[in-house]
Amino acid sequence: MALLALVFLIASASAAQTFIGNKLITVKPQTLDQVEYLIQLQQDTELDFWKQTQGVGLPADIRVTTSQLEYVDKHFPDVGLTYSIKHYDIQSLIDNERTGSPRGHRFSTTDVLTRYATQTEIDDWLKNTANKCGSRCKLMEFGQSYEKRDMKVIKIVSGTGSSTKPAVFVDGGIHAREWISPVFVNNMIDKLINDYTSDGTVRRLVDTYDWYVIPLLNPDGYNFSHTDDRLWRKNRAETRRARCVGVDLNRNFGYEWGVAGVSSNPCSEVYLGTEAFSEPESKNLRDFLASIPNLEVYLTFHSYGQYVLYPWGYARENAPNYQDLAYAGNKLKEVVEDFTGEHWIVGNSAIALYPSAGASDDWAMGGAGATYAYTIELPPDEDSIGFVLPEREIPGVVSSVWPGVKAMMSAIIDREGRTVRQQPTHHARKQVKRTDNIKADIFSDSDWWKEILATKLKGQ
Ligand SMILES: [Zn+2]
Repeated sequence: MALLALVFLIASASAAQTFIGNKLITVKPQTLDQVEYLIQLQQDTELDFWKQTQGVGLPADIRVTTSQLEYVDKHFPDVGLTYSIKHYDIQSLIDNERTGSPRGHRFSTTDVLTRYATQTEIDDWLKNTANKCGSRCKLMEFGQSYEKRDMKVIKIVSGTGSSTKPAVFVDGGIHAREWISPVFVNNMIDKLINDYTSDGTVRRLVDTYDWYVIPLLNPDGYNFSHTDDRLWRKNRAETRRARCVGVDLNRNFGYEWGVAGVSSNPCSEVYLGTEAFSEPESKNLRDFLASIPNLEVYLTFHSYGQYVLYPWGYARENAPNYQDLAYAGNKLKEVVEDFTGEHWIVGNSAIALYPSAGASDDWAMGGAGATYAYTIELPPDEDSIGFVLPEREIPGVVSSVWPGVKAMMSAIIDREGRTVRQQPTHHARKQVKRTDNIKADIFSDSDWWKEILATKLKGQ
């Protein structure tokens, strides 16, 4: 047994990047200058921030290699920052990710719903699912990724595939390493199709809306995270720096592109690309959303943190209908918290997390005209696990969050009364410079977001 484990370790070491000796450090800035230093650090370097600070007293979590830790040891004292180590060996997280799940048995379709399947397995499953579903489903391709993979979306309706009701659009996997996202979205597809007759809420959701669902918005990155680098985040596009690959697709959408929380350095994990929609994956999504006649709701699934976030993300400003967004978002929170006893946060994404421009949810509302747009950060909320949620946790996430999503969607149906669809009033576009707005934002005197920060501080 020990020998087998050793052989497996050696085999996997030659095939994929290992994270042996990588640590997760946590650092709590005590001054505004330190906050700005950390934000700049994420933009200027290759450091992998698992969590960025949201202000004074709120921690940033950073994964560091041995040599990066030397850099940190050298430079943090210059600005008076200290850190502690939250996790000593990231590789052990990855080694434990699959334990407790079945190995070495024949692949069956249900596995796509209970384990972290590969990109081709998900594609095959989607094709089979659409075939079995018949006239209520339609599988469509909407362009190709950078590495020429066909991007696939499944349309699920109550009547026939040619229906044109108001639409809900769902995507997963825009950030490659957030593996819980595609598997959660696959479960949504399964339930929207198969629970239609047995679950009255599902029936209402599918009778009211046409559903468009994409499990893998970043198929190249997702594939790479399976074959080479478990913690890969971006797409796989070449950049002007040969050594640094990939654009952060969730910084590449063209609504207030580039104004905050991005980097123009191709080596950064939040590299925004050369221009808005420079990447085929974001461009394809933009064009597909434009082809949907009546987009009402946009949901994009990420991990981690247990957040329901709504626009705007580019600055600490609310969308005009933020009260509707908050109301429905809180329905998800209530249901999931009841179910699990765990804490979720609902809020404007720039405030509950931090400002970052060019995200797909801002575009869905500001560019594609959706009335509701949410980024849902799935479990866990523990930073010491982060993106590497053990596979055995998948069923628990599905069985707690899916009822939350149903409750949120039901609230939207009730709130909209399904009368004439309201277009969001596009607020006056406010230009914010790339980084020098941070101090002003944090010192802004509006109390509604300070309350959220205060709640978070209490939880530290
Ligand atoms: Zn993400």
